[in-house]
Amino acid sequence: TSETLDLKNHIRGIPDFPKPGILFYDISTLLRHGPAWKAAMSRLAALIAPHKPDLLAGIESRGFLVAAPLALELGLGFIMLRKPRKLPGLTIGLNYALEYGTDRIEMQADAVQKGQRVVILDDLLATGGTMAAGISLLRQAGAEVPCAAALIELSFLNGRSRIDTHFESLAAYD
Ligand code: 5GP
Repeated sequence: TSETLDLKNHIRGIPDFPKPGILFYDISTLLRHGPAWKAAMSRLAALIAPHKPDLLAGIESRGFLVAAPLALELGLGFIMLRKPRKLPGLTIGLNYALEYGTDRIEMQADAVQKGQRVVILDDLLATGGTMAAGISLLRQAGAEVPCAAALIELSFLNGRSRIDTHFESLAAYD
């Protein structure tokens, strides 16, 4: 059951990916285990439902795998926050700093209506830079962002401190 699920039993750490010295938390093993994936989604749904979202936003690409099934479970619409030049039509975007260089996140300009409550989701929070950029972009589009959530947070990086809304995760690694 979801109460007894230990999510960490379904996540593995892969050393030296994508670069030497990095321990990458791989959610593929969770996704390929039906009951564990379902239990994880149910638990996240229970954490975000009290924030009364109108829409869920997923961050490309593993964030889609969290946000889309949750949106279905909660009966909500789903919107995509994507890498540059992937979305058709009028888009808005935000550049954000990485450790080395910059990245950019985009969404369709008409994806949210002013004042809509959008909960943003990703698979994992590391430094928090990606999630913070997603929140800023959604606000730029007119959304309220009452909550952000991820399956996993790397608490030793303290990404949570960069997230200026409620933040929820199902598993933390120190
Ligand atoms: P941040 O911007 O918080 O430093 O990095 C988070 C982003 O990088 C997320 O979109 C996440 O998918 C990806 N990411 C960074 N490290 C890992 C990891 O160890 N495992 C997974 N699954 N994703 C990671």
